[in-house]
Amino acid sequence: MAEMAQRGRIGGRACSESTCSFCGRTGSSLSALVAVSGASICAVCLGECARILDTPAGAAEVAPTALPKPREIHDFLDGYVIGHQHAKRCLSVAVYNHYKRLRRLRSPAEAEIGKSNVLLLGPSGTGKTLLAETLARTLEVPFVSIDATALTEAGYVGDDVDIVAERLLQAAGGDVSRAGCGIVYIDEVDKLAARGEGPGHGRDVSGEGVQQALLRLLEGSRIPVPQARRSPRAPVPELDTREVLFICGGAFAGLGRVMAGRRHAGGIGFAATPDGAAAVPQAPAADDLVAYGLLPELVGRLAVTVPLDALDAKRLRRILTEPHDALVRQYQTLFAMDGCRLVFTSEALQLVAEEALAAGTGARGLRSVLERVLLEPMYTATDGELVISGEDVAGTRGGLRRTG
Ligand code: ADP
Repeated sequence: MAEMAQRGRIGGRACSESTCSFCGRTGSSLSALVAVSGASICAVCLGECARILDTPAGAAEVAPTALPKPREIHDFLDGYVIGHQHAKRCLSVAVYNHYKRLRRLRSPAEAEIGKSNVLLLGPSGTGKTLLAETLARTLEVPFVSIDATALTEAGYVGDDVDIVAERLLQAAGGDVSRAGCGIVYIDEVDKLAARGEGPGHGRDVSGEGVQQALLRLLEGSRIPVPQARRSPRAPVPELDTREVLFICGGAFAGLGRVMAGRRHAGGIGFAATPDGAAAVPQAPAADDLVAYGLLPELVGRLAVTVPLDALDAKRLRRILTEPHDALVRQYQTLFAMDGCRLVFTSEALQLVAEEALAAGTGARGLRSVLERVLLEPMYTATDGELVISGEDVAGTRGGLRRTG
């Protein structure tokens, strides 16, 4: 047992060396010292230890050590995700607070900070998964993406929780503590909506059952992971998913009408800022999401709601060339391996973006247009320089272009 002593004394014995072995504080800066197995620890360091032990299984050590500030997270996202400035701002703050909370060494007197999972609302192919994945990359934490429609109504058994835990553990290279600090992206949560006042279907009872499963997942639990055991005699480690950050996403088609019907200003649109500067996408209120068909308990677990706007032709064109791993760069790398320099004219890029916009699948449409336009040159695989013009893009529409 540790012995507590006033400054200069340890456990009632005279203390010749009144120095904390951990922080090196001495003399008058010490309020108390505790002697433990030949070493001394001051009240401040003891408090820190108590807080570390109070944090879930190793979270304090594995949560990102050099936690980037929200501005830095935003800048990193800018390198990979085009547009969505307001969403990036909301996400950087939410993620920063989440990991600050995990790293925080709490004393019993301090307030408990609640976890805030995130809900991303935006059309398909606008970058919801990309945002979640890039956040995980920024913070160097494990990332897992799952589809809400694949969740089962398994009930009490908790199959889904086990599967997510297994995948997180894989993404963390078998490190249980690291896995517990990961990010899980759950796509298509809108598909589970048991439409109440919402448009479309009637009440979907199974959807409600799966929402309960999703709720259990978001609540998290401690899951035994025998495969992570270091030796047969060691106790079975537990993966604690209660501190995992869950980011849910969905297109929420028709939510605008639900909001308008509830006399909100007109759906997921834009609200002017007081100074008339940048427009900010308008987030639905919790009761809009409940009216859409999400369970109130589920909405309650998704404290941060971030709407994304659809991508217009201008942004789609930027997506072609600006991100670090932009599509055009990817194809240029492929062609360069055959000794070919691939160049797109400005008109060609514009036409590719317009065609993807017309397809209505967001940025996903860009790749299929490029695949079609570049199929013939990829087939012939010649070296030299290849310039793709607007005519080349238009010429391959409605079937493959015949050359030679
Ligand atoms: P969502 O999850 O919204 O359906 P994804 O994030 O899966 O969309 O995006 C589909 C593809 O389009 C990905 O390859 C992604 O790289 C690209 N993409 C989508 N939106 C953007 C964006 N805003 N900036 C850069 N690339 C994007």
